[in-house]
Amino acid sequence: MRVLDRGDQLRKELDAARAAGATVGLVPTMGALHEGHASLVRRSAAECDVTAVTVFVNPLQFGAGEDLAGYPRDPDHDVEVAAAAGAAVVFAPPVDDVYPGGPPVVGVRVGGVLATTLEGASRPGHFDGVATVVAKLLNLAGPCRAYFGEKDAQQVAVVRRLAADLSFPVDVVACPTVREADGLAMSSRNARLSPAERAAATVLDRALRTGATAVTAGRCDPAYEPGHVAALMAAVVRAEPLVTLDYAEAVDAATFEALATLAGDVRLVIAARVGSVRLIDNLEP
Ligand code: AMP
Repeated sequence: MRVLDRGDQLRKELDAARAAGATVGLVPTMGALHEGHASLVRRSAAECDVTAVTVFVNPLQFGAGEDLAGYPRDPDHDVEVAAAAGAAVVFAPPVDDVYPGGPPVVGVRVGGVLATTLEGASRPGHFDGVATVVAKLLNLAGPCRAYFGEKDAQQVAVVRRLAADLSFPVDVVACPTVREADGLAMSSRNARLSPAERAAATVLDRALRTGATAVTAGRCDPAYEPGHVAALMAAVVRAEPLVTLDYAEAVDAATFEALATLAGDVRLVIAARVGSVRLIDNLEP
């Protein structure tokens, strides 16, 4: 496996692979790789001839007061996990390779509902930062399949719009969320939870499953509204003293717009702070 730290090396490597007839899979990450990331790499390696994993903690997508400085980093471990899962290339650039002149003057702006609801509302500018770095990575990688996790479902929706609206030669592939045995969605940030917080963090999954049961019931009872489901999920979280709810909602599975009824494709979404760690999760009942 090749470990690269400059964008021009990545472009050369993947251009050469395609010229030799290989297909390319790209797995963008922020490192501290876990089994959730590994599942994306394995899927890419199964579907593409050459898989490149990118490891870059993108300053642009962190707001003031967010955890950029404290974000977990473990480069040696990342290389091991990526290799074991079947990656041919790890691209782990320093910040000044990605943004040589400092923060870019020209970037991607995300608009519409995706930018103003849920993660967009809680983290102003976050999706602009995500879309800008993903655009850069897709331009360096060239035509490929790009693998993202459903765990960050609103991010997947943003990347799909990025690829469609700006005509990137990429197939965006969404992969299922990998969970710990007790239901907690795997996340690099879980490493920063104390033992008591780690136990309390399962409340996100419990709230989603309570919501899913309510959605199933609600589909048989037209009087049952998305707001009822949201209130039930919120109540589950509020019963957990170590956890502060940010939002719990039932939204349109694809657009993330508010729902009038439970009849269509529903996605349950949740965000909460566990101690100083902000966690998100979602479920399609
Ligand atoms: P991150 O390093 O957190 O930016 O995540 C990199 C990619 O891995 C994103 O597409 C995430 O959605 C995906 N990912 C993170 N956690 C999981 C998980 N538990 N299951 C599946 N995919 C995940």
